Amino acid sequence: MTYPKTLVDAIRYFANPDNCRDYLVARRWPKGVTCPTCGSKAVYFDSSRNGWECKTRHPNRKFTLKTGTIFEDSALGLDKWLPAVWMIANMKNGVSSHELARSLGVTQKTAWFMLHRVRLAMQDETGGKLDGEVEVDETFIGGKARNMHIAQRKRRITGTGGKDKTAVFGVLERGGKVRTVVIDNRKKKTLHTEVAKHVEAGAALYSDDLRSYDGLANQYAHQVIDHAVKYVDGQIHTNGMENFWSLLKRGLHGTYVSVEPFHLFRYLDEQAFRYNNRKDMSDADRFSEAIRRIVGRRLTYQELIGALGATASA
Ligand SMILES: [Zn+2]
Repeated sequence: MTYPKTLVDAIRYFANPDNCRDYLVARRWPKGVTCPTCGSKAVYFDSSRNGWECKTRHPNRKFTLKTGTIFEDSALGLDKWLPAVWMIANMKNGVSSHELARSLGVTQKTAWFMLHRVRLAMQDETGGKLDGEVEVDETFIGGKARNMHIAQRKRRITGTGGKDKTAVFGVLERGGKVRTVVIDNRKKKTLHTEVAKHVEAGAALYSDDLRSYDGLANQYAHQVIDHAVKYVDGQIHTNGMENFWSLLKRGLHGTYVSVEPFHLFRYLDEQAFRYNNRKDMSDADRFSEAIRRIVGRRLTYQELIGALGATASA
């Protein structure tokens, strides 16, 4: 059988453990299966366990496809995990834990944890700055109070001094990638720090006329569009970022009932992943890219739980 092209294919294909092995080995160990502990290629496959054993003497000689990945220590099979990754990587407006639970036949709580693990693993590899023509913008997310439980609403509104929206900074290289960051405020220092972190000095920079962006002309070819006057002036606009925000908000208000500020960055990562991998990519390509990040970077379950922090015990 060839590799799956649709969700239905994927569910059928990954129901077979041999197929899961073929698919993941090709991506995780393209040069041959390697012991995750010592790096030796002298390993043998034990079909009764559907796993390998390293021939070198050391602790933890036995390993499986899940060892050293976000799937490790999960009782769920790859027949559930891989279709979940497929859905998360490909559903344009995102997938809710309820939908995932229904589709996979797992509880909503389990689906919630799966979603968070996969989103974290899909995070864009940072490194390198955006260059060329770059748009920067910010937006506010949240504050859909009518969807919130009363107690939660009170906590949200009184607990943080009346602010129930979260500020998000976005940066987009035209014809390239988008990145987003949750920020504490829109002050000059905050925004300048983010611009410096993500944009190559000398790049053509486009923003709206928010005062916080003043002073960037020293480092960048900075041009400003005054939205009170017009939205586009030749090359000077932030339409790419505006588009991304509207996709993001459509996803948030449609599929997701509410996203706590604490979880927002994971949703942003997921949306940025889909946005950055939308062009000329089939669902199968996007899935393959998500898997490459998951097994290629070998973020472990333990590291992930650490990163999830307080939510892991919630
Ligand atoms: Zn070994």
